[in-house]
Amino acid sequence: MTRDAWLSAHPYLQRVAELYAEVERALAGIEVVQPRTPTWDDYRADFGDGVPLLRSIHAPVDLEPGGRMIASLVGRLAASAATEKLAADARQLDAELRGAAGAARVVDWMLGDEAFAPSSPGTLRFLGWTAMARYLRPLVTAFAAWRDEERWLRSYCPTCGSPPAMAQLVGKDPGRKRFLACGCCSTRWQYNRTRCPFCEGDAQRLAVVTIEGEAGLRLDSCESCRGYLKTYEGEGQEALLLSDWSSLHLDLIAQDRGLKRLAASLYELEASAARSDR
Ligand SMILES: [Zn+2]
Ligand SMILES: [Zn+2]
Repeated sequence: MTRDAWLSAHPYLQRVAELYAEVERALAGIEVVQPRTPTWDDYRADFGDGVPLLRSIHAPVDLEPGGRMIASLVGRLAASAATEKLAADARQLDAELRGAAGAARVVDWMLGDEAFAPSSPGTLRFLGWTAMARYLRPLVTAFAAWRDEERWLRSYCPTCGSPPAMAQLVGKDPGRKRFLACGCCSTRWQYNRTRCPFCEGDAQRLAVVTIEGEAGLRLDSCESCRGYLKTYEGEGQEALLLSDWSSLHLDLIAQDRGLKRLAASLYELEASAARSDR
């Protein structure tokens, strides 16, 4: 399954795919700085207590270079984005992030500081996490190699603390594992097979909706809180099928069934666009 084959089967995703591709192209022209890997021993106690890596004060990660990548990305899109709304949002954001303090301001805001109120928070969250995930990639890989998955098993991302965007089932029974996927920093972490990550109730059995012809994507929903997770039941197509935008039509199916999206999303605006195109 290639991206193009997927798009020809799901033409209503074209617009969000183009937006995503445009941002990726702009990002490719930006210098990527390598984050410094923290001393894992300094973080061990926080990890045991459930403190996500980027929130640890004992093993601080310098996010400012990532913040500078975000500011450059916004600047590039302000100058050259083909999509009109993206260009307009980026121009405004570029003005707000100009200056030496811009990188720190956007990083603090992404981690929950409300002192900064950007003009288009949805666009900045999307651009910010796309660039930050690129910056953090080597760190996310090193963290995955270091951590003992069995000692986390929490409902939020061990790297950035966000709720999951999607899930993935890996391997075959017995011993099949469920991983949750962060839509912000792209970390994948192990979680209990039957527990709901939103209300943390153990449903014993999540209700499963399989969808014909959807390359192993399905919806797992919780009867207590009506939350659902789009779940990729396969391996090898993670980059496409765990990207969230590639299955926005599944969110519409879930909505039509009265389920609630409690998963984190960077594409909320685009879901309504996909609906009007169908
Ligand atoms: Zn994360
Ligand atoms: Zn639940």
